[in-house]
Amino acid sequence: MNTQLMISSILRNAEDNFPEVEMVSVTADYPRHRQTYSDFGKRCRRLANLLVSLNAEFGDRIGTLAWNDHRHMELYYAVSGSGMVCHTINPRLFPEQISYIINHAGDKILFVDVLVMPLLEALKEHLTKVEKIVVLTNKENMPDTSFSNVLCYEELLSNQSENYEWPEFDENTASGLCYTSGTTGNPKGVIYSHRSTIIHSLAGALPDVTCASNMETTLPIVPMFHVNAWGAPYAALMVGMKMVLPGPKMADGETLHDLITTENVTFSSGVPTIWLALLDYLESTKKIVPTLRRVSVGGAACPRIIIERFKEEHNCTVIQGWGMTETSPLGTVFSIKKGMENLSEEEVIDLQCLQGRGVFGIEMCIVDENNEELPWDGIAFGSLKVKGPWVAKSYYGLSETPGSDECPVDEKGWFETGDVASITPEGYLQITDRTKDVIKSGGEWISSIEIENAAVNHADVAEAAVIGRYHPKWTERPLLIIVSRPEKSLTKENVLNFLGERLHKMAMPDDVVFVDELPHTATGKINKLGLREMFEEYQFPNI
Ligand code: AMP
Repeated sequence: MNTQLMISSILRNAEDNFPEVEMVSVTADYPRHRQTYSDFGKRCRRLANLLVSLNAEFGDRIGTLAWNDHRHMELYYAVSGSGMVCHTINPRLFPEQISYIINHAGDKILFVDVLVMPLLEALKEHLTKVEKIVVLTNKENMPDTSFSNVLCYEELLSNQSENYEWPEFDENTASGLCYTSGTTGNPKGVIYSHRSTIIHSLAGALPDVTCASNMETTLPIVPMFHVNAWGAPYAALMVGMKMVLPGPKMADGETLHDLITTENVTFSSGVPTIWLALLDYLESTKKIVPTLRRVSVGGAACPRIIIERFKEEHNCTVIQGWGMTETSPLGTVFSIKKGMENLSEEEVIDLQCLQGRGVFGIEMCIVDENNEELPWDGIAFGSLKVKGPWVAKSYYGLSETPGSDECPVDEKGWFETGDVASITPEGYLQITDRTKDVIKSGGEWISSIEIENAAVNHADVAEAAVIGRYHPKWTERPLLIIVSRPEKSLTKENVLNFLGERLHKMAMPDDVVFVDELPHTATGKINKLGLREMFEEYQFPNI
């Protein structure tokens, strides 16, 4: 049958096959909200009726400014399921980026977490096109507001019918929209379709990818406002996995530990910063997470220490993956291959430190500066390009002409990731750097990530970042910037001695400086552009 791939079919599947499975959330108004997939389906249909009553039409962009919780999940399914575009917005972006994004997308209605309302108030004069703002809470917790078009989510929902027929339409219809938080220029919108989302979820659930199953309980700590929480909201309902959603408590070690242990979480996903914070919390409180079997890490290179500590302290396996907003985000994921069963623990950790291997649906290649393909020998590195059914072909509202400045796809149909990488003969990807962060020293390329990873393995280093700075002889040389752990007296000599045993001579930083904190982007990555600005006047000693 030529059945269209519809997001609503995932919901129907969850209601038919897993009606009893729970979705547990932390929200500002419920310390622990619980509902089953059966309850969830009913609330999604109420929400679809609510959207109609607010005059939302097929193709309209509906914005969300929300944390990971059941109401955000309802928006994911009801907005896309009824043919509108669920536009997830990152509340941690700069205010001017948020208003730019809302206006650029032309969001008709905004659904906003109560905790995000003060931020929206500050943007009031810029939000001229938004018709309605719905606050994601109940009547008792409605905030005071200066907006005149504000409504209460729970109140509206309670007045709607549970009967709604999910429409079937072309699977290529836009279902979601997420803007990349690039550090230069305006954010750019990436559109996901029903088809791309379903195929991405099917691939993401495979045994060698996340091995999602009804027997697991998942805690997505990666935010739902960033690349659809890596697809967890769809994959979970596809296989009937219990979901545990941390709401605004994403960086709170105590809540995360409590959720993991009391809800029996077996699988969780997040960026490295989250895991370092949780591991530190568990260590300092002497707590453990016995049910947690696997954690997936991505968004930035995973320091080896995270993999080692999870294994040694919690018997938990780290699965590193690589992806981007434009790749939905699944690109590559760690798993061992047949024949590797007898590798030593150290050798397996070496592999986990790479970015994983290709998943069916994503083709990849690395090319040199003449666009010639490079071999998969683990040595040659060049610009990484990908293609596949869940990779963006253009940015929202910008040119779709391959090879043009605004289009990320080249004339041969490859998406230019902006990452520099090598690929081992076994197909494991190793990200060397972002094209613009790689340090060009005397004609050689030095990976800033390699130096950062080596530095964060020092027990007294809390965070490390490397940028290239001008050098008269070498053009650029690495400068290492460190945040040390509280109450530790690290010196430049300590750090250089430590690195001397781990890095080749060319990659040794020419200087080490200490700062109280590093600038981060809205998605928690180190903001290299901000760092370069901070160190604009910097000169290496002895020049
Ligand atoms: P974003 O679109 O904001 O999710 O950022 C995507 C970028 O994050 C990629 O192009 C990479 O530069 C970086 N990234 C994602 N995952 C990894 C990883 N596992 N290791 C290194 N860099 C990563």
